[in-house]
Amino acid sequence: MASTGYVYDERYLLHQAGTWHPERPERLKAIHQRLVASGLLDQIVVIQPHEAPLVWVETLHDRDYIERFRKACEKGQTIFQSADNGICRDSYKIALLAVGGVLAACDAMMNGQINNAFCAVRPPGHHAERARAMGFCFFNNIALGARYLQQQHGLNRIAIVDWDVHHGNGTQHLFEEDPRVFYISLHEDPTTCYPGTGRKTEKGRGAGVGYTLNIPMAAHSGDAEYLQALKDKIIPALTEFRPDCLMISAGFDAHADDPLAHMNLSRQGYQQMGQALAQFAQEHCASRMIIILEGGYNLEVLADGVEDQIRILQSI
Ligand SMILES: [Zn+2]
Repeated sequence: MASTGYVYDERYLLHQAGTWHPERPERLKAIHQRLVASGLLDQIVVIQPHEAPLVWVETLHDRDYIERFRKACEKGQTIFQSADNGICRDSYKIALLAVGGVLAACDAMMNGQINNAFCAVRPPGHHAERARAMGFCFFNNIALGARYLQQQHGLNRIAIVDWDVHHGNGTQHLFEEDPRVFYISLHEDPTTCYPGTGRKTEKGRGAGVGYTLNIPMAAHSGDAEYLQALKDKIIPALTEFRPDCLMISAGFDAHADDPLAHMNLSRQGYQQMGQALAQFAQEHCASRMIIILEGGYNLEVLADGVEDQIRILQSI
């Protein structure tokens, strides 16, 4: 019987980026409360995270950067490196716990305990560069998960589809020379939206040319445009790449009701994207699929979106 994992831990609420900050603990509370209220929590396998061992974090982040982040938290600084990266004393440990949650989901999937998983972790990760915190992100959760699947579990090709409204600059840069990790991003056009990267012309470097696919979307694009891009560009590219596992950087901030960006996806649009990608994973990756939370700042939209994606994971 197919089973779906869910990574969550109350300690994820301990990371405080500042009282004004949109990336707030209430985001995960809203998700978890929805899973309890809907009864979905009883049908999925709750996976306990651990703090990721540094040896795995160091596969993609500089030791010196990791140490600076640790010290900044220890000293009680309230900002790390960029004005939108608010921190508290717990942030370092909780960022390690977010990475460790993804690693635990990878282990459970590869050990056969589950087929696939949703990781409700924070802080998010896709803007985090090798030695730079950006856009609410400190460690690149999804990128570290991809490396772990390759180095610990022997998978060869990993595809990462990033549908957060913002371009995942960190994930792209960490893998841009690597032909074994295909990074595909749908995001609001970099001329109107943070972080300003992700142009069509960014296609990878060196051996990795052709393994980065950026699909910038005009502001105010909606379900029709997203689903068209999925059908015409993403599914064919994935089919040709033949990944062993599909990972999703799932931001729910391209929804029409999200306060941070300017896109018009609906709940149904997100459902249809999830269904198309899950169907691909079922047909081509033995249902191996790890979805990792990135952005999404309207609590109702977030709870709806995560509930829907978990139901979709259960169906494959
Ligand atoms: Zn985002």
